[in-house]
Order: sequence, then structure tokens, then C-alpha cells
Amino acid sequence: MDLLRSWLRGQAHDEKAHAHAYDGGGGVIKEAPMVIDGRCLTIDEFVDHVDALTFPLGLPNRIFLHHTWRPTRETWNGLSTILGMKAYYERQRWVDEQGRWHEGWTAGPHVFVADDGIWLFSDLNYDGVGVAGHNRDSLHIEMVGNFDAALPDGPMWTNTVAVLGALHERIGLPPEKLNFHRDFSTKTCPGLQVQKAWVIPQVQQWVAEFRARRHTSVAGLRRKLRELAGEALLPATRGTALADAARERGLLGPLMKEVPIEVDGQAYVVQFFAEALLVPVNQWEQVLSLAEFEQQPRHDEVSLAASDDSNMPIYDVTTAPGDVISTDRLH
Ligand SMILES: [Zn+2]
Repeated sequence: MDLLRSWLRGQAHDEKAHAHAYDGGGGVIKEAPMVIDGRCLTIDEFVDHVDALTFPLGLPNRIFLHHTWRPTRETWNGLSTILGMKAYYERQRWVDEQGRWHEGWTAGPHVFVADDGIWLFSDLNYDGVGVAGHNRDSLHIEMVGNFDAALPDGPMWTNTVAVLGALHERIGLPPEKLNFHRDFSTKTCPGLQVQKAWVIPQVQQWVAEFRARRHTSVAGLRRKLRELAGEALLPATRGTALADAARERGLLGPLMKEVPIEVDGQAYVVQFFAEALLVPVNQWEQVLSLAEFEQQPRHDEVSLAASDDSNMPIYDVTTAPGDVISTDRLH
């Protein structure tokens, strides 16, 4: 997938010189191709990705939830759908503040959440495009599917709750501030069946559990060590033999990209990875690798009740969605 990323970035870079340079016809300014990420992440990988965001222009202060309506969950086809949407956005026309027509959005939604994973689209470090007139300092999350008729469920919904939870937590925004597209539009987006009174308590629950886990957990240790390593570590990749083997061995992360070498006439690919060793103070014989440490049986599993956030309001997530919908007025 890294290849795809560099290809997409490379393509955008090559054509950047031509951005605004030619007239698309009829006075329309053709924008450079949209730069997208294109990776599909698990929840844990997404949390790591969100941790690493730097927001160079300042923190966003709003998160919008959308549904794609189309593609539906049935017509979604992973990367080819992602590329199809990129092509679609690049054909869209819009008018700038000076009244000039442009063809091609410069950014789109940040994330498409599907049953097969969490697809990164526009860079979460910067503004995207999702709600006319309300894109500044905003993040846009698209649930893949049409939720006018049915409630979101399955892996797509589990992923969505995690995405909303991780992002709210990262930018320090309480989940009850979640925005829907329809708050600023006549559209039904993110779907008539989706109500804040149903969504927000689930995101709050995720955040509370996340904080409790992160407080002392082994997963938190790995994150802490990655932070300690700082820029010495490259972002983790997936899908190469070495990256997968490093993951299986529980190594901390890559220190360099793959390099081809030759030994006795045989070609190899080599890559350095960081390994962390831990030893309890004054028990110097008990050195463990990070992976060994993580695999140790543990008796100190944190419970929500024991966490610092036990006083955080958790809404009753068992409320039947039907009850909520019937009492909530639609926008
Ligand atoms: Zn929308």
C-alpha cells in the first residue's frame, strides 16, 4: 500500500506544477489531482495513526459524521471504490470566493469506515471537505452505507465508534460535541436511523474504556515505548514479509526502509527493526523482550470502575434505538 501512496503522492507532486496552470475550458480552473492516503487500517492501527498526527495548522474543533448513501455496504469494493471516489471528487465543480469556477476538490472526507476496515482518505492533519461552508477546522468521517432505512451495525459500526472515539480523544473534544452533516444541511446524512442519543453514548463508552486501558495497560506500554523512540522509528508498514515477521515477533518498529543486499550470490532484502528489552529494577536476571513482556500472564487487568474516569458520565447504551428515534425530531 505504501507503493500506492507514493504513486498517488508522486503523481500529485508531478502535476502540482501544472495546478491552476491550465484552463479546463469555459473558464474552469482545473485543480491538481487529489492526494489521498489509501491505506486500510485496523482499529489499533488507526489509534496509532491518530496518536502520530501533528495538526501543523492547529487542532480541529469539530468532527462530522456522514454516511456515503452510495456506495452501499454491498457495492463497496475496498481500494477500487476508494479510487473511484477520488476520481469522482476530481470531477466536481465549485466556485471560489472570487466567483471563479474550479474543477476538482482539493480534499475530501478524511476517513471512510467500512466493514473491511478504516480507510484513510484526505490527510487528517488538515481540513477536508464534507459540509458546504463548514469545512474549516473540521474532520469528516464517512460510514460506508445507507442508514436512512437501517441502523449501522457489524464491523463497520464497531470501527466507526472507535474512529469517533479516537479522534475526539486526540483533539480533546467531548464526544457529545459530535456533529452530523444534517445539522447544517437539508440532507438526512448520516442517515435517518442514526440519532445522536444512540451514537454519542457508545462513543463515550469507547473513550472511557480506551482511557482505562491506556492508563496502565500493556498496549499502553508499547505506545509509550514508541513515543520514547520518537523519530527513530518509521511508520509501520504491512504486507511485506519483513514487516509481517516483525509484527509477529512483536518488534517495536522499523528503523529504516527495506534495502536489497547480496550474500554469496543470493539476493536478500534487509531491514533494521527496533527491539525493546525490559527488566524490573533489582531483578536484573529477569530481562524480557517487549513481546515476552506483553505475553506474560497478568493479574492486574484494569477495570473501568478502578480507573480515574469512573466518574465520567456513561449514558445508558442499552436504550433501544427505536425509543430514541421516536422521540427525537429530525433536522
Ligand atoms: Zn454527509
